[in-house]
Amino acid sequence: MKISSENYTPAIREQLMQQVQMQMSEKRFRHVLGVEEMAVALAKKYGCCPNKASIAALAHDYAKERSDDAFIFMIKKLKMDPDLLNWDNAIWHGIVGAEFVRQELGIEDEEILQAIRVHTTGAAKMSLLDQVIYVADYVEPNRDFPGVQEARQLALTNLAAAVAYETKHTLQFLLKKELPIYPKTIETYNQWVVKK
Ligand code: GDP
Ligand code: FE
Ligand code: FE
Repeated sequence: MKISSENYTPAIREQLMQQVQMQMSEKRFRHVLGVEEMAVALAKKYGCCPNKASIAALAHDYAKERSDDAFIFMIKKLKMDPDLLNWDNAIWHGIVGAEFVRQELGIEDEEILQAIRVHTTGAAKMSLLDQVIYVADYVEPNRDFPGVQEARQLALTNLAAAVAYETKHTLQFLLKKELPIYPKTIETYNQWVVKK
């Protein structure tokens, strides 16, 4: 069954939720539902399609619990950028995860797939839907970390400022832990955080 924003009924949403739930822990599924709630609210506030926001949110971490081997197999099968092989689940579950979403959930809407691809790293160019999913993932009601209140406040008042806040704080977190920075994360920083 193909899922699109046009044929998206409550019954199809329920079915999508079930398919997603089967792929993950209870805790991660709770996170996904929180992202959906926040993404739909942000979509309504900033004027992008709430159905697309719901579908993208429900599917955004669909592949997160797949094995490394499953991601490596998919990268090779689809002849994706070989540099991806130098990264891990944190980077794969969005960019490569979108291909699992396309193949297994029948979601072919490119705007939705792109929002899933960039949900972890952001990108220099982000559509409204990309921004909504990126920010909703960070501030959904189950998230609890220093700064989440301020991020939520920004999300409800200035979406681009929320993207900037999240990007800056994620980068600080990665630097502090001496984790590798994916080049797209730096592109996002240069576009959204650096003062012009
Ligand atoms: P989640 O899937 O809901 O937990 O959230 P995300 O998809 O946003 O992030 C997944 C993980 O990727 C988090 O631990 C982030 O800190 C991490 N992450 C984000 N950007 C980068 C990056 O550039 N490099 C690395 N190594 N990890 C990143
Ligand atoms: Fe994620
Ligand atoms: Fe997430």
